[in-house]
Amino acid sequence: MLFQHPSPPVEVIAEMNKREFLKSSGAFVAGSIASRFAPAQPASQQPHAQGAATPQGAATHENWAGNIHYSTEHVHTPANLDELRDVVKKCSKLRAIGSRHSFNRIADSNQNQVSLANLNAIEIDEHARTVMVGAGVRYGQLAPVIDAKGYALHNLASLPHISVAGAIATATHGSGLHNGNLATPVRALEIVTATGDVLHLSRDRDRDQFAAAVVGLGAVGIVTRVTLDLQPTFQVAQTVYQNLSFSELERNFDGIFGAGYSVSLFTDWQNHRATQVWIKRRLAAGETHNPAPDFYNAKRATEKLHPIAGHPAESCTEQLGIPGPWYQRLPHFKMEFTPSSGRELQTEYFVPREHGYEAILAVEKLKDKITRHLFVTELRTIAADGLWMSTAYQRDSLAIHFTWKPEWDIVKQILPQIEAQLKPFAPRPHWAKLFTIPPQQIQSEYTRLPEFKAFLNRHDPTGKFRNEFLQTNLFAG
Ligand SMILES: Cc1cc2nc3c(=O)[nH]c(=O)nc-3n(C[C@H](O)[C@H](O)[C@H](O)COP(=O)(O)OP(=O)(O)OC[C@H]3O[C@@H](n4cnc5c(N)ncnc54)[C@H](O)[C@@H]3O)c2cc1C
Repeated sequence: MLFQHPSPPVEVIAEMNKREFLKSSGAFVAGSIASRFAPAQPASQQPHAQGAATPQGAATHENWAGNIHYSTEHVHTPANLDELRDVVKKCSKLRAIGSRHSFNRIADSNQNQVSLANLNAIEIDEHARTVMVGAGVRYGQLAPVIDAKGYALHNLASLPHISVAGAIATATHGSGLHNGNLATPVRALEIVTATGDVLHLSRDRDRDQFAAAVVGLGAVGIVTRVTLDLQPTFQVAQTVYQNLSFSELERNFDGIFGAGYSVSLFTDWQNHRATQVWIKRRLAAGETHNPAPDFYNAKRATEKLHPIAGHPAESCTEQLGIPGPWYQRLPHFKMEFTPSSGRELQTEYFVPREHGYEAILAVEKLKDKITRHLFVTELRTIAADGLWMSTAYQRDSLAIHFTWKPEWDIVKQILPQIEAQLKPFAPRPHWAKLFTIPPQQIQSEYTRLPEFKAFLNRHDPTGKFRNEFLQTNLFAG
């Protein structure tokens, strides 16, 4: 069955704070369907798109957080595969752009970007138990459609606002000892390569090429469709506990992170404790859930909480152990609200899970430098995978995440100190977040990098899809 959404669905816009939706969406590109080439004009000069909210208050051409102003205003918005192929053939330099939620320059280009917001088909194959998703689709659009047909994805990130293609390209993840990141359910990819040809790769048939291409960092080509594994829909109950001592974590690391299908710890690094533990428990059909009042001496919250102390919790997904559909519990934030803080920066490092507690202690040493500039830290686990450029490649991982206040001048001085503390644990930075780890160190963490580069050189010998971020982090040395 084939579902075509306008991008975004009208009902989603209606529910959302429009200003925030425009800020977090690619609406600026949808705004110029007539020319299909959208210079990123100030909001006041943007033409209106049919079905889109008014551009009043829309952002200029910047990322979601507003910390990156892209280096080009040339944003192509092809209506279909053929138009995209023409764009690819005509451009000597081009980067795909998704929902612009990355915090660094990974999506940037100083010549051309292309948004696939118009490629938004959702096609379920009941027989294969897969869904084929156009590259313009966001999880918040996809999830209710597949849930209505009785299906689920295995996991979601903290927010549903991001595009599926953009999330996969950067190995975006949720949490769970046994949950791989969001790239792991990819079964097949359709990619327009540098010549404008269409490359189909499948997990079952193409093994190495597939493992190279999935977490492609936008460098392999423009992904137009991805096919994802589905599973039967399920219910999740989310319960929050407060004040978990790190001493309990030291003794019960796997027990704590394995206490639910997906578990997140939040901390401000003070007082040797996690301020909150979010346990997302997957329920069997008909199972009721009575969360215990204590969790390793942490106390169950009796009201809904935002992970950042003092922030109103209405934007958060339901808690208090109330069961609900997977897609309304696995993210921390609801689609119709701005996730997280809004004005913030993010950093995240992946370390081997077996050294997770030691790595946490190493960062804790910097607590008095960190806390003042931090909204919150989140600790999550990700299962190892076989995708060459994945941050969890062949490594069960603990992810240590920082949501910073928008104080880059200070944060950029703290990051090298955190990175020095984590160096013994071979940290891999999140591809889409802020870091200062030297390129050579990053490169040494990816054993398949030489083959990945050879793969890129084969499909994109002139470096059409390479930007400064990739040139620096993958190729400089
Ligand atoms: C509030 C907030 C919360 C977040 N929470 C999480 C979280 O829980 N877990 C986590 O891991 N990350 C998280 N992130 C980071 C986010 O998941 C990544 O930045 C992700 O890449 C965003 O997808 P996007 O579509 O916005 O990508 P963009 O930022 O637009 O692009 C990212 C990369 O994807 C590539 N790309 C996009 N579309 C295509 C395509 N069609 N073909 C080829 N390449 C493409 C781009 O070229 C670029 O390299 C969060 C970000 C924000 C702002």
